[in-house]
Amino acid sequence: MSKVHNFSAGPSILPAEVFQQASQAVLDFNGTGLSLLEMSHRSKDFVAVMDEAIALVKEIYKLGDDYEVVFMQGGASLGFLISAYNMARENNRGAYLNTGTWANKAIKEGNWVGEAITVASSKDANYNFIPKQYEVPGDVDFFHYTSNNTIFGTQFHKVPDVNVPLVCDMSSDIFCRELDATKFDLIYAGAQKNMGPAGATLYIIKKEHLGKSSVSVPTMLNLKTHSEKESMFNTPPVFAVYVSMLVLRWIKATGLKTIGENNQAKAKLIYDEIDRNKMFKGTAEREDRSIMNACFLLNDGIDDSLTQAFLDDCKAANISGIKGHRSVGGFRASMYNALPIESVQALVDVMKAFESKFA
Ligand SMILES: *Cc1c(COP(=O)(O)O)cnc(C)c1O
Repeated sequence: MSKVHNFSAGPSILPAEVFQQASQAVLDFNGTGLSLLEMSHRSKDFVAVMDEAIALVKEIYKLGDDYEVVFMQGGASLGFLISAYNMARENNRGAYLNTGTWANKAIKEGNWVGEAITVASSKDANYNFIPKQYEVPGDVDFFHYTSNNTIFGTQFHKVPDVNVPLVCDMSSDIFCRELDATKFDLIYAGAQKNMGPAGATLYIIKKEHLGKSSVSVPTMLNLKTHSEKESMFNTPPVFAVYVSMLVLRWIKATGLKTIGENNQAKAKLIYDEIDRNKMFKGTAEREDRSIMNACFLLNDGIDDSLTQAFLDDCKAANISGIKGHRSVGGFRASMYNALPIESVQALVDVMKAFESKFA
């Protein structure tokens, strides 16, 4: 395989060793003579995979028996609806922070189930910061936020302090650093940003919330259904769960503390260069900058045509996935857990060379 520096926003880079093991499992899983793709999800070998994946999530986040872990299909986009359904109580209202595209979509689905109130929004500033001054009404069932705004490059660096059950879409920064997960009542995350391949979605829910909804929840959207059957109510996405399990092993072996330090170092390297380099400027407020997704634009006064020139320079240096999302423009460097700091250095080198050519 040629060495590509993979800055894709998602599906995204995974640890290299995981690809080796995953490809072996496709050919012959555990020496069974069968591919993982052609065996029963109720086979002893696969049940062990699911059990280990669930146990690893609990171990990595130090969760006790008061939490359930569920793997499902549907992506975080179904999680918007599932979270609202499962957390609805007598108020039939949820409080939401609108910090970007995904938060907006969560609000839309919240309104499907009950009433989704937006308590604060950074929409007027094209979501370039995280609102910090807001009040959460007492008569809501839960508070929902998006911990990392993948598209706009902002991230919560503190867990919000609220007096109602806390719900979080953690799709793009789950396991990116140490976290007190016991502050949360429900966490959900699509696997394909920081945990595995597309196709699996993780739910971490406090047991006391299972089966407590005030509305009638369709069977497949009820987390109780899936937790009672250990994520085997219906056929789980076997391959996606297997690869996620391999990534979770890697996360455990590396340790969240080390992962967090590495992510911090990568983020410092790129943001220092964005701030120093005359050709570029960052888009997010500094204190809210994401350590996962760094968004940046050509600096004021720099000709737009150089956008393509920079992308071409990246391509020539084997740097992939740098084009920004259309709602921000410019560039985005996604630096998920498995991205080595050498890749960030390669990008920084291209930025420096670009500056010496044009500035
Ligand atoms: C990518 C993403 C989603 C959407 O995930 P799907 O699995 O494609 O539904 C939701 N929330 C956040 C924060 C994301 O980054």
